[in-house]
Amino acid sequence: MFKRWWHKRIVRRSQISPQRWQEVFAQLPLLRRLSTADQARLRELTILFLYQKNFIGTHQLQVTEQMKLLIGLQACLLILHLGIEWYDDWSTIIVYPQGFVPRREVMDEHGIVHQQSVALSGEAWQDEPVILSWDEVADAAALDASNLARISHHPSTATAPWRALAGFRSVGVLDIVSTMPARSSVAKASHATPLHRLATNGGEKCGLVIHEFAHKLDMRNGAANGMPPLHAAMQRRQWTEVFSQAYADFQQQARSGTETVIDAYAASDPAEFFAVVSEVFFECPDALQQLYPRVYRLLTEFYRQDPLHGQQSMN
Ligand SMILES: [Zn+2]
Repeated sequence: MFKRWWHKRIVRRSQISPQRWQEVFAQLPLLRRLSTADQARLRELTILFLYQKNFIGTHQLQVTEQMKLLIGLQACLLILHLGIEWYDDWSTIIVYPQGFVPRREVMDEHGIVHQQSVALSGEAWQDEPVILSWDEVADAAALDASNLARISHHPSTATAPWRALAGFRSVGVLDIVSTMPARSSVAKASHATPLHRLATNGGEKCGLVIHEFAHKLDMRNGAANGMPPLHAAMQRRQWTEVFSQAYADFQQQARSGTETVIDAYAASDPAEFFAVVSEVFFECPDALQQLYPRVYRLLTEFYRQDPLHGQQSMN
């Protein structure tokens, strides 16, 4: 009760102007299908999200209100009919100007430590931050990233891309990782998205934000494994059967080189399959329904929304 009152108070006190909302909604075509009621609900969730989450820009990137809104709106689309509580187990979003190369030591099953440095566009850590590369976020929203971002130490280059600032793509080092406790299997505690994996999705732009936040939902019941906590009326056995079947079929297709709207990256492991089909569910729902109708159906039950047939609450 108190929580609801407190949330309403935060929403009421929001300083974000109606023009700003209009602007950011217009920049995200995937929100067009939302009813007026769902748009209002999404606005409220996003205000709470921005209030609760801590955005940190790296490499002098200033995370502006508009950038926060573009990230927050997409993140909250996933929880539109779940509730802000689904993101209550973590608090930080780190935004890199571009792709980044965390340097890590990973121990393999034989106890041998390997240096790992793969260029990434995003990453979701269990109980810890979500990391996004801003130009991939903007790319997915069909925006010119350079017009929205500000590099604080370079005010004169505000409208020029940071591509001019040499070396971002190769020198970004994820400092926060070094402060995390050592783990024997660091790689398992996070799900990383390789750079440019999200450049296209069968010709469609696709969503880094939706992808990483789908991992966060999946991680609410332990390490990401492709099964988020299911609602009471849902059956784990059915989820496992439907997703395993679709995943096996998709792996087969990926091996044979068949291209579909689902990015081949989904064949990496069940957690990636869930994150990638979540992207497709929100962005090209008709294609997912055609390819894997039972997966589509289960996602409508989990997300409590049906992007293909209107946005009525399925609570
Ligand atoms: Zn992923």
